[in-house]
Amino acid sequence: MSDAVMAYPWQMPQWQQVCQLLEEQRLPHALLFSGPADTGKKRFADAMLAGLLCEQPRQHLCCGECKSCNLRSQGSHPDLKVICPHEGKRQIGVDQVRVLQQFTGQSAFREGGKKLVLVYPAEAMNAFTANALLKTLEEPAGDTVIVLLSHAPSQLLPTIRSRCLQMNFGIPPEAAALSWLKNYVGDDAQARVVLAEAGGRPLAARAMFENDSLNESLQFDQGLSAVAAGSKSVLQLAEEWQGGEPLTLLEWWLRRLVALIRHHNTGEPVAEGWQAFLGIPPVAVFEHYDEALQLRAKIQRGANLNKRLMVEKLLLEWFALRR
Ligand SMILES: [Zn+2]
Repeated sequence: MSDAVMAYPWQMPQWQQVCQLLEEQRLPHALLFSGPADTGKKRFADAMLAGLLCEQPRQHLCCGECKSCNLRSQGSHPDLKVICPHEGKRQIGVDQVRVLQQFTGQSAFREGGKKLVLVYPAEAMNAFTANALLKTLEEPAGDTVIVLLSHAPSQLLPTIRSRCLQMNFGIPPEAAALSWLKNYVGDDAQARVVLAEAGGRPLAARAMFENDSLNESLQFDQGLSAVAAGSKSVLQLAEEWQGGEPLTLLEWWLRRLVALIRHHNTGEPVAEGWQAFLGIPPVAVFEHYDEALQLRAKIQRGANLNKRLMVEKLLLEWFALRR
């Protein structure tokens, strides 16, 4: 059986919860898996759904060999519908959700089987789409299981949340994340550095290691230090940064601000070059953090911002706080 249909090692508590629900035949019609991105919720859902589809599951894990498993791995199992934004789109279309009612209304292809639906990320539904889904959630037809994945459950309609059993997938315990990450990174010390840089999210850490984007963060730090030391102007730095991916920059920025806040609370060390900002009052760091969060949300919603102006504004406001 391939790894891809097993939950990650740090998800054992959630996996046991699902197994218990299945054994007691209490698996609800709708589940909401919520938690930060890049912690493995999608794979957990895949593993659970694969186990439900399999003709000969072992302890709720799929066998990977039966007809059902084969159809699923080819993406063509008639009892499974996966809904996510079409390529290049940020939102799930209402037409995608409308076909659900028909899908869940039919009986399962497998005798006595369940109809399964996976929607991710659930916050990619607008109010219109969410209301269409709500109809299906309100009147679950037959033996249907709908799984929603969300990195931002607070953005979902409360009426959707309240109809789901919510399971939380937080940042995994560091030891579990590290022992998995070491398989890819090799070196223990390096694994720690990358995991910390990725905010404790193991999949983000692996991607960071594989794309060598740790270097990118270090370059951002150096650029900022150069301005702090007076060897570069804010406008020069904004010019340098305008070619990059704004979300990458903002993610780094938010991580550093969180580290700075933590430093004030617990004395945790800050990244190289950030000592220059220790004098900024924590309350001002908080306010700036809030603004950066809103900016990230705007970009994630697809707002068309002038990158150069965005970076300039962020930097000018930040350096104004030092005075
Ligand atoms: Zn199977």
